[in-house]
Amino acid sequence: MSSSMATKLLLLLCFVICRLISTVGSTMEMVDPLEKVELVRLGLESQLKLSIDPTDMEAASLDFGGMVRARPFAVLHPTSADDVARMVRAVYESTHGLTVSAKGHGHSINGQAQTDNGVVIEMSNGFLKSANDDKAMRPSRPPSSVVLGVGGSEDSKYVDVWGGELWIELLTSTLEYGLAPKSWTDYLYLSVGGTLSNAGISGQAFHHGPQISNVYELDVVTGKGELLTCSEEQNSELFHSVLGGLGQFGIITRARIALEPAPQRVRWIRVLYSNFSAFTNDQEYLISLHGRPTSEKFDYLEGFVIVDEGLINNWRSSFFSPRNPVKITSLSSNGSVLYCLEITKNYDEYTADTVDQEVEALLKKLSFIPASVFTTDLPYVYFLDRVHKAELKLRSKGLWDVPHPWLNLFVPKSKIDEFDQGVFKGILGNKTSGPILIYPMNKNKWDDRSSVVTIDEEVFYLVALLRSALDSGDDTQTLEYLIDQNRRILDFCRDAGIGVKQYLPNYNTQEEWMDHFGDKWDLFLHRKIQFDPKRILAPGQRIFPASLPSSSPATSSSSSSSFS
Ligand code: FAD
Repeated sequence: MSSSMATKLLLLLCFVICRLISTVGSTMEMVDPLEKVELVRLGLESQLKLSIDPTDMEAASLDFGGMVRARPFAVLHPTSADDVARMVRAVYESTHGLTVSAKGHGHSINGQAQTDNGVVIEMSNGFLKSANDDKAMRPSRPPSSVVLGVGGSEDSKYVDVWGGELWIELLTSTLEYGLAPKSWTDYLYLSVGGTLSNAGISGQAFHHGPQISNVYELDVVTGKGELLTCSEEQNSELFHSVLGGLGQFGIITRARIALEPAPQRVRWIRVLYSNFSAFTNDQEYLISLHGRPTSEKFDYLEGFVIVDEGLINNWRSSFFSPRNPVKITSLSSNGSVLYCLEITKNYDEYTADTVDQEVEALLKKLSFIPASVFTTDLPYVYFLDRVHKAELKLRSKGLWDVPHPWLNLFVPKSKIDEFDQGVFKGILGNKTSGPILIYPMNKNKWDDRSSVVTIDEEVFYLVALLRSALDSGDDTQTLEYLIDQNRRILDFCRDAGIGVKQYLPNYNTQEEWMDHFGDKWDLFLHRKIQFDPKRILAPGQRIFPASLPSSSPATSSSSSSSFS
């Protein structure tokens, strides 16, 4: 064991001694560090299952990005919200500057769910593991984890769900009742708490808003270890802080999510454009229909840039229906960039007769390349879970567990043409190393009281560069090249005054974070002081410098200057 590891373990031990191990008490002082750790572990087993198992520690040190690695002192697999609260309270009351990082499914890119001086709480895997190991250890969690709201109109149906639940698990449970959440992410193997800490967006956001606009109530463990219920009406400041709050204000242990009747099937359509303005005009027209009756709008709208047809660029979107034998390459002149609009219409047995006409009426208003309509039809759940299919394909070729230097940007509608010229046609040229999503959303579907940062325009775009770094011998696919290219894109946006904001933001200095939050920084800071005064939570976001050890637990809460 390295000396830094031993030091970390010692630190962990010190605070745990104070809090948790009444059985060993003062005899701790007389044993050596390793034995102490063992005693800690044993002592904790009766109260909090802290683990220093190498497999747990390794899993807590990794994420989907594969670029950042921080090893915690220990890992907690909570069996209830009370476990989470006791853990945070113990750290809050300790004087060693320790931190706590909630980890959902670890699908962050830049170590956002990691810590190197504290405990990782495994909200997703950990729960499943302990639940399987010992079903009796489910005290505070609802037996099935899904509780449907009873009574009320269709609109008020909801599900209460554990914060570490994956969206795929949630979908499976609600479908048993013929219901489903309204707003999604493209990929469902993400945790509820993890996506609500960012926003949670997909092609439904233009009319339902992001996932954070579809939550009625939360249970949250604040940075002081208090377990509070919050909503628009109750503890509303905490509620709005936590949504899009990057894990800074509390750990979500329960979320009450809005549901709607689940459609049975999906008509999934793709059309192509060679002209960028025609593509974005059509996208903006279609999202402007959000207030119309269901029959007069699509249910989902996204889009992507087609640079070439290789697997690594198109893994998210590998359908171009065999019923449509058009070769995409035949539609692009001189290998130029093509844009694909992706839309869906949901239907069931009652609307199956009219879906064709409704789709046709909407497509008639669009200006895509005439021969380029690709259509497929599939069950709703297959559509929602489409990226998992692509994941399995990539996994089978060893292309999933590679570094992912992703860059996600919100771009103002007024600057999207300049972005196209400068980035898609400029910096990227014909090399992308991964899918590039581009779709607009309506700002009025976002609640400005949440902590998330968007764009000050009625319509803004998500541009997602979902790149994979490969060791293929091609210099333009290396991690270094792609990271540098991300930097060049951000530099271009800054120099050209594009006014982008990062989604799933990643910065290293507090100045950059202040710039990211802009007018919202003061509020964000105030919320941090109010709900996590000792800067315990989610240190992997690197927004606030670590709290130094102190003799008094509450000293850092009194003044904002301690954050700067
Ligand atoms: P983690 O990576 O485990 O955690 C993320 C952050 O949230 C950390 O700071 C962590 O401390 C905090 N956190 C985790 N759980 C909690 C909790 N219970 N309470 C409070 N804070 C918590 N995003 C979209 O919006 N739309 C998409 O379509 C989309 N598709 C994706 C596809 C893939 C393949 C991947 C890898 C990511 C995608 N994302 C998408 C991004 C994803 O939403 C975020 O990375 C999200 O944080 C991942 O959830 P997670 O459960 O893995 O969170």
